[in-house]
Amino acid sequence: MSRKFKPICVTCGATYAPARRTAGYHVCMPCGEAQSRSVRHTVVPLNKSNYICVTDRTMLSQLNPKRTT
Ligand SMILES: [Zn+2]
Repeated sequence: MSRKFKPICVTCGATYAPARRTAGYHVCMPCGEAQSRSVRHTVVPLNKSNYICVTDRTMLSQLNPKRTT
């Protein structure tokens, strides 16, 4: 992935600061704030690691070592 281009918000299509992208965000600031109020968060323990915050259900399934799909 090139860092020359500004990342594009997956929700509204607007560009946002690359610093947000490197911080792990896929949406622009306004959408991120709106999402943070609607998305449910959970915290899961990682094996031999620390606890992490999960907001995406697909991410949660990827973390499961015993997943079948
Ligand atoms: Zn947006």
